[in-house]
Amino acid sequence: MSTEKSLALVLRLVDFSETSVIATLFTRDFGKIHGLAKGARRLKGPFESALDLLCLSRLVFLRKSSDALDLLTEAKLERRFRAAARDLSRLYAGYYVAELLDELTDDGDPHPELFDFACETLAALDTGPQPVSSVLMSFELSALRVLGHLPLLDQCVECGTEMNGSGRVAFGMLAGGVLCARCRPGKPKVVSLSGAAWQMLRDYAQSDEKRPSGEPDRRAYGEVRGVLNQYLSHLLGRRPRMHEYLGVLAS
Ligand SMILES: [Zn+2]
Repeated sequence: MSTEKSLALVLRLVDFSETSVIATLFTRDFGKIHGLAKGARRLKGPFESALDLLCLSRLVFLRKSSDALDLLTEAKLERRFRAAARDLSRLYAGYYVAELLDELTDDGDPHPELFDFACETLAALDTGPQPVSSVLMSFELSALRVLGHLPLLDQCVECGTEMNGSGRVAFGMLAGGVLCARCRPGKPKVVSLSGAAWQMLRDYAQSDEKRPSGEPDRRAYGEVRGVLNQYLSHLLGRRPRMHEYLGVLAS
């Protein structure tokens, strides 16, 4: 057993007893962990209010070597997620970020880049001027990219032919990317995208600040939403829970 420290985002909390909780956290240095926090529900304690949902906290924990839960010993609040004070869709958008981090990452598999981007995303939902649709699309595609699930968009996923986006583009859900006219026939679960929607996917999938941040074009966004929703549902094996609550994710 070793004592570890890391910045961590609180993804999920389950009551364990009257005063204790089991927390799922996405840590910057150790990836996703599950830990028991004894006395977390006491007002005065080693956690105070640093273990609320989506808090960014400085965590100290004892790492267990086996399947046993880690033991959280201390947490200090760095930043609270306050989007609920702004509007409900921003709060739900935060829950959606937590859901994706929880569902798409494996225990003990750190991704500092994704951690930092998740913190930026929550800050943008909290106080930023960007619309929720745009913030979430950036997060979804970045998470897919960092975790190695980003669909191939520039070339046919089967034969490597460069796509130029003139006319409609075929996107294969199961193939994991776009398909040229030659490779498309006979493929299951293929969606036809307009050139504008294909370009939007590419723009938001960029790894740097060139990503757009304004209000996305409505028609293209509707198409992109449809593709992302199906693609994520396919990846998770079910529809993400928060899609039901977030109108902006409807397709
Ligand atoms: Zn092809």
